[in-house]
Amino acid sequence: CADVAMYQAKSSGRNHYAFYHHSLGKRHRDALELEQALRRAMAEQRLEVHYQPKICLADGRVDSLEALVRWHDPQRGQVPPDLFIPVAENLGLIQQLGAYVLQHVCAQLAQWPAQTRVAVNISAKELSASSFLPMVRQLLQRYGIAPGQLELEITESCLVPEQAEQTLRLLSALRQMGIRIAIDDFGTGYSSLSYLRHLPIDSIKIDRSFIRALPADVSDCQITSAILAMAKALGLQVVAEGIETPQQLEFLLQAGCDLGQGYLFARPQPAAALKL
Ligand code: C2E
Ligand code: MG
Ligand code: MG
Ligand code: MG
Repeated sequence: CADVAMYQAKSSGRNHYAFYHHSLGKRHRDALELEQALRRAMAEQRLEVHYQPKICLADGRVDSLEALVRWHDPQRGQVPPDLFIPVAENLGLIQQLGAYVLQHVCAQLAQWPAQTRVAVNISAKELSASSFLPMVRQLLQRYGIAPGQLELEITESCLVPEQAEQTLRLLSALRQMGIRIAIDDFGTGYSSLSYLRHLPIDSIKIDRSFIRALPADVSDCQITSAILAMAKALGLQVVAEGIETPQQLEFLLQAGCDLGQGYLFARPQPAAALKL
């Protein structure tokens, strides 16, 4: 209903706009204003990219980085991506946003040592565009980036049955180029561990919700250990998300987890703040 109202407000032109605008509740007005602010921020290239290290748990060194988009709005302050990424998806702006982030990442990689690798989060709607693969290839070429320096983080929701075949073909093609593929937020979707076996992927990231209560929560310990055992059997690398305490780190080390990310090691930060 809200969507219909907004759609009508936009498509029926200027004169009707005010009418619908006044008829909308405050929440709808806020949503419209947020949309407009996001459009403006994107048009003015004001989104930023921050980077959070992925740490090799055994020795504490930085393995690679994850790019996370940041939007600082003059009125709203820092707007979290969990809030504005869905807005960008609904407005049909996500492909533009994704291309913007990828371009910034490639430009940054060109400045960093050649062994640096950056993972970029990709929405399902970006993957379904036929322009995705050529866009990535062109960016790598333009900035002289080796495919192995790029990793794409996708979620299980990218593999919905209606698109699964097309997505699998795309992932295979990307991987054949040498780009790495990770399953993000693993455990929150519906795919079974055994389904992973069929996917052209290199690593999985255990969702933060399973890490949060380690090691006190017995079932979270068991789930984490089971994911690690299965991933190992399939030859997949595992990254634990959201490590905040030494106790979580200790458990994950004992359980044989390779890599981790979290405030215990480093927060996402601007490229200039990282020493690589
Ligand atoms: P994600 O890819 O699962 O990223 C991990 C999120 O956890 C990030 O939130 C990160 O800042 C946060 N985090 C890292 N370590 C810790 C920790 O120790 N404790 C806690 N509490 N949080 C931690 P962020 O940056 O707010 O991003 C949220 C989500 O937005 C991301 O989840 C990703 O799904 C999406 N996102 C971010 N940047 C992009 C982007 O460029 N494109 C797309 N399509 N999605 C993005
Ligand atoms: Mg991610
Ligand atoms: Mg995640
Ligand atoms: Mg997430």
